[in-house]
Amino acid sequence: MTLVMKFGGTSVGSAQAMRETAVLIQHTKKQWGQTVAIVSAMGSKPVKVTDLLLQGAFSAANGDGETYQELAEQLRQIHFEAIDGLLAPDGERQQILVENGRFIDRFSDLCQAVYVLGELSPRALDIIGGMGEQMSARILAAYLRQIGAPAEAIDATELIVTDSNFQNATPQFNATKQKTESRIRPLLAQDVVPIVTGFIAANADGITTTLGRGGSDYTGAILGEALAADEVWIWTDVDGVMTADPRLVPNAKSIPQLSYREVSELAFYGAKVLHPKTMRPCVENNIPLRIKNTFNPEHPGTVIVPDAPNGNGGIKAVTAINNLGLITVEGKGMMGIPGIAARTFGAVARDNQSVLLISQASSEQSICFAAPDQATDSIIGSLENEFKVELARKDIDRIWAQEPVSIVTIVGAGMRGTPGIAGRIFMALGEQSVNVIAIAQGSSECSISVVVDDVDTAVAVAQIHELI
Ligand code: ADP
Ligand code: ASP
Ligand code: MG
Repeated sequence: MTLVMKFGGTSVGSAQAMRETAVLIQHTKKQWGQTVAIVSAMGSKPVKVTDLLLQGAFSAANGDGETYQELAEQLRQIHFEAIDGLLAPDGERQQILVENGRFIDRFSDLCQAVYVLGELSPRALDIIGGMGEQMSARILAAYLRQIGAPAEAIDATELIVTDSNFQNATPQFNATKQKTESRIRPLLAQDVVPIVTGFIAANADGITTTLGRGGSDYTGAILGEALAADEVWIWTDVDGVMTADPRLVPNAKSIPQLSYREVSELAFYGAKVLHPKTMRPCVENNIPLRIKNTFNPEHPGTVIVPDAPNGNGGIKAVTAINNLGLITVEGKGMMGIPGIAARTFGAVARDNQSVLLISQASSEQSICFAAPDQATDSIIGSLENEFKVELARKDIDRIWAQEPVSIVTIVGAGMRGTPGIAGRIFMALGEQSVNVIAIAQGSSECSISVVVDDVDTAVAVAQIHELI
């Protein structure tokens, strides 16, 4: 049996967390036989190593020659403290200190180059941003060896081949499968646990790419697919996927089972517990996906399955995304013009932006959609350009944005066929005077999204959570 497990930032966030993670790896290996572990960069909340690395790069690009040097010291402290806490001086401690130190020196050198040039490319950002995983994987593997569990740290640049879309690269399956098989299988055959870096990969030329923020979950699924794993487990710091973000709703509860579709909706609409791309490799290959808590391993967590039982009244969870703009194209003359929607979204796509929600009135007098609020100015510019003639003729009256807004999404496959759900949602929001600006319902009826003023987000989420 092959089990692929991913450990998130907090699961490797300190010497103590790494000890618990090592115990879990040993324990599951006894039960499953072949075990592959994927690690994120160290991340003791609220300080995430990946954030520090990227902050260093951005501050250097903005002409700040000091911040990255301070961050290098902070990175040294975080990693060296973990190494000192875990590794015995007469073992590999010195070696791993030197290896981690080299990454931090490289971080400083690269930031200095960025500072001098005043230029930061997506490619440089991926090299800098991916170093956290390279450091944590080396520490955890050395600790496992120290406690008598053969382990080897592997950079996923050796395994996962992607396109060259730096910052948000897409894996190429065949090349990835071939490389992963040939590098990982021999280790598994020798009873060695591969400790693989999450988040990073490489293009066909071997240049480091990354899979997008939070992408280590996706690494787990990609390697699960490449190795035809029996299951993929995501270890994090909460008891699985919960009815709401526990930081927003303290009485949120763990959900025992969710379907791939439900969890995809949740992840897409802001539930940070899983990267939205994680589900696809698992669903396409029928690989069960579990989310479990490193700090409460006895808890069963959440299992993601093809079809999950319907929850109480159909609503299973609520999630939100903040800091969006709602862009509206409106005008009385729009009704007669063919292809308004196609041209609208064509213009948005040419601007390289993605749209999170679309809502159109049936009279075709307006069409509105949500996008990240830092993108709204440029989207409006593109749309004004696209509809120059219609604006001049007054077929379109105006193109404008309301911001900041948030999307609150209610998820549950059982909402299909349960009458009155939308009514209950609007009643609940109305009771707290939350104004609903727009709504959209997925055709699968697995989710309903409402757009509200950003300041109403917490109240809206809490109110809807009461309905679960
Ligand atoms: P990791 O480093 O383990 O990947 P993340 O911080 O990326 O951890 O994701 C886990 C966090 O996701 C939780 O600590 C929680 O605050 C947040 N979260 C948001 N929405 C949900 C939800 N619906 N269920 C569980 N956790 C959620
Ligand atoms: N360390 C990366 C990030 O912070 C990837 C991950 O944690 O999943 O985005
Ligand atoms: Mg994560």
